[in-house]
Amino acid sequence: MKPFNADLHSHSTVSDGWLTPTELVHRAVANGVELLALTDHDETGGLAEAAEAASRLGMMLLPGVEISVTWRGDTVHIVGLGIDPANPRLLTGLEALRLGRDERARRMSAELDRAGIHGAFEGARRFARNPALVSRAHFARHIVSTGLMADVQTVFRYYLAKGKPGYVEHEWASLADAVGWIRAAGGVAVIAHPGRYRLDGGELETLIEEFIALGGEAMEVVSGCPLDGEVERIATLARRHGLLASRASDFHGPDESPADIGGSEALPPDLEPVWTRFAVEQRGTYSLKTR
Ligand code: AMP
Ligand code: MN
Ligand code: MN
Ligand code: MN
Repeated sequence: MKPFNADLHSHSTVSDGWLTPTELVHRAVANGVELLALTDHDETGGLAEAAEAASRLGMMLLPGVEISVTWRGDTVHIVGLGIDPANPRLLTGLEALRLGRDERARRMSAELDRAGIHGAFEGARRFARNPALVSRAHFARHIVSTGLMADVQTVFRYYLAKGKPGYVEHEWASLADAVGWIRAAGGVAVIAHPGRYRLDGGELETLIEEFIALGGEAMEVVSGCPLDGEVERIATLARRHGLLASRASDFHGPDESPADIGGSEALPPDLEPVWTRFAVEQRGTYSLKTR
């Protein structure tokens, strides 16, 4: 039997994706996705539109969010699945993060200016459909559009990655805040793309232990573009710590993302998928659990 096609991490124009929530849902359905989570950065403003499109097309949608966190000086991302976007604690927390983003974007622009790239804030804003949510991806797209660099990855390599001229230190949410807001909103917390952090094996295990102690339950075992051997390495950690497993594309757009929506590989079959918390199987088809 074909594995259940759940894609539990994706972006729309409400953060730094290229497709509107409606376009994203249409693409997911066309690609055979059965359960989708929209998880915009620090923002839930696209969930109502996505839910409407999903119900029109008969696809299951989980309300989600991807929260930016500073943990021991490094940035990590925590996805919340099945959240109530109207929860006041979550709303207030995310709003504070978005205010911080605006201030960070201005500092980034000042640093880029010193490095000879002028007007980057205004340029990035032109790529951001949501003015409250300017991400480094918008800066990268602007810089590509000026012709200075060939593609977004190259801009990150030369200007936007940690230690590069356009990178500024920034304090995001704490791990306790992010997991706390997600749980307050009735959601399940998931460590996003664990293989992508600049943490060695021991530090990643410490992150996992702290995350579990705070009430975190799952980890992306399959994320957007795993390196060779990464799925097995992360699966081993999920087994050792008893975490539920998530499957994700981290899709941002057709021309920018290595994995298309719904196109990531299947989870190792022995792991317990995180969607068992939300979807029940009846005679080979799934339906969303009602709360
Ligand atoms: P921010 O949350 O504003 O720091 O931006 C993070 C976003 O930048 C990620 O979600 C990706 O969309 C994008 N990003 C980060 N690193 C890279 C990279 N090396 N290549 C392309 N996009 C990246
Ligand atoms: Mn992004
Ligand atoms: Mn991320
Ligand atoms: Mn993401």
